Amino acid sequence: MSDSEPNSSEGRIVVLSGPSGSGKTTIVNRLIACAPVRLVKAISATTRPPRLGEAHGEDYYFLSLDEFQRRLDNQEFLEVAEVFKSGYWYGTLKSELDRAWQQRAWALLEIDVQGALQVLERYPAALTIFLRTSSEEEYAARLHGRGTEPGDVIRRRLETAREELKNAGRYRHQVVNDDLDRAVAEISDILQNRERELDA
Ligand code: 5GP
Repeated sequence: MSDSEPNSSEGRIVVLSGPSGSGKTTIVNRLIACAPVRLVKAISATTRPPRLGEAHGEDYYFLSLDEFQRRLDNQEFLEVAEVFKSGYWYGTLKSELDRAWQQRAWALLEIDVQGALQVLERYPAALTIFLRTSSEEEYAARLHGRGTEPGDVIRRRLETAREELKNAGRYRHQVVNDDLDRAVAEISDILQNRERELDA
């Protein structure tokens, strides 16, 4: 199937990537509340333990390594990646796409660059958006400001972010998140335009 003629459901995948601290989670929540198209967030599976306040089936499906591996062997994942060289696995279950499409909604995937490239292999028409801060200094300041991660974790994340930025050009769109409202509006426009194309 060519990129210009996606099956209308298959086109309705939006992948949002960007370094942690680039405001992804806030933007995702805002988009789900007020985007001009219906969005369902794909809940990722992960082997990392839950953080305080995180719930299974809401923030992630928290799986043991054995269970994750079993589902991987069973070909239940659209994409998987070991993120931040942390030893933890993350992945999008194919069933999450169906959950969104059954509701006639777009599936929104908040995943890393490795995952995004795998999604594009399977669904070349997926809408990919890379969220970036305007400068590395600003990004580092945000990570430090958040104060939730120890120094070595922050250093690793900055390294990952530098690597990810090298891949930003492989995304269909890049959105700078200096101003939250502006970034949400820009992504909303991108979604609306794409929806019109798919409906045409
Ligand atoms: P955290 O552990 O802070 O919740 O997430 C770390 C990173 O994992 C996020 O920046 C996010 O992009 C990435 N991530 C979350 N879920 C998935 C997933 O299903 N697949 C991939 N490839 N990356 C994910």
